Amino acid sequence: MSMSTLERFSFGVGDRFAHQAKAQLRTFQEIARDGFDVVPVWNKSNREHTFIGSEPQSVFDAAQAAVRALDWNHGWHVDADHIRLDTVDRFLPCSDFFTIDVADSIGKPATAEAVQAFVYRHPELIGTVTIPGVSAPFTTTRANVERVAAKYLLAVQDTGKIYRHIADRKGEGGLIAEVSMDETDSPQTPPELLIILAAIADEKVRAQTIAPKFTGRFNKGVDYVGDLAQFEREFSDDLAVIAHAIVSYGLPTNLKLSVHSGSDKFSLYPIIRRALARTGAGVHLKTAGTTWLEELIGLAEAGGDGLALGKEIYAYALAHVDELCAPYASVIDIDHSRLPSAETVHHWSGARFANALRHIPNHPEFNAHVRQLLHVSFKLAAKAGNRYTNLLKANEEIVAKQVSENLYQRHMRPLFIG
Ligand SMILES: [Zn+2]
Repeated sequence: MSMSTLERFSFGVGDRFAHQAKAQLRTFQEIARDGFDVVPVWNKSNREHTFIGSEPQSVFDAAQAAVRALDWNHGWHVDADHIRLDTVDRFLPCSDFFTIDVADSIGKPATAEAVQAFVYRHPELIGTVTIPGVSAPFTTTRANVERVAAKYLLAVQDTGKIYRHIADRKGEGGLIAEVSMDETDSPQTPPELLIILAAIADEKVRAQTIAPKFTGRFNKGVDYVGDLAQFEREFSDDLAVIAHAIVSYGLPTNLKLSVHSGSDKFSLYPIIRRALARTGAGVHLKTAGTTWLEELIGLAEAGGDGLALGKEIYAYALAHVDELCAPYASVIDIDHSRLPSAETVHHWSGARFANALRHIPNHPEFNAHVRQLLHVSFKLAAKAGNRYTNLLKANEEIVAKQVSENLYQRHMRPLFIG
């Protein structure tokens, strides 16, 4: 962890069992050789730590070991992912990046005085707002601004509380703050984003990245589902709004968009790549913890005990599908009728199992339902304990190959190079 300034291109990677940091870091070296400086941000949420029974320090330790082993001399960060006031403290010593999650406060009303004070402070938000680069000028009324402020002000005030709590302990220069509003039902439109950014500036939060909820579905581990043309317009308008807000409200000049559950969104990468190239903007793309699926794929390819454990995990997951999926109901779409029986999977070869899981959408054996179910089943591997991690060690090379190939070929290349 070198500086607390987030670089133009950053890529969030998850490493739930703390064995793949080196395999992940190699892909950042590879994309650097291609001419793109992208920095890794290792992220693990409080929820994941709780499910797995791990401590935040372990993420820092694994990242630092990889950085030293591979002699990585660019930036790297450790993300306290989706923290709130009540969960942030144990992340303070070992994180420099904080994803401040205030989605739960969206829609909870701020006081009428706070809303009136905001509208009074920001007459520039009312009427026709012309921003260079947006597809059409925003037209708002005082009532619109009041309504949006009422919806988001409390969440921004909460952001301020959490931000100051962290900054008081780490120093204002000691943290990279991300404001996350993605885990909610309705997307934030570009005009709403402008109002939110004005409020963030009022609250003196030095946000370097913001994760709005975009239009469409960002399910875990599978491609984007939604209207691509609409996403393109929205993403591009968001970039223009951010550039405008940096100048108008004095927000950090490196403020950029963060795309959560950004792994596997293959149909969005060309859109994002074009927008970044056109505008010179940066991006943070956070992956959805799918590295663990690459571990399963590697173990399946290895055959023997690795494949056997993968099948066992699938059989157990299938028998407990509702319970495993419940915490992720809003971010997965599993059609139960498309899940093969445990008996069927029992007879699969390692290659067949790997093909079902590996995210190559047009592969005839790929099964997005199996992939999503296993994605949310990582706690079963945690339960297997040493049996699982010993298999990772014994099959390090074949597992690392899956991890690196997935990140580099299916994610970084299409996102940055095309
Ligand atoms: Zn998120």
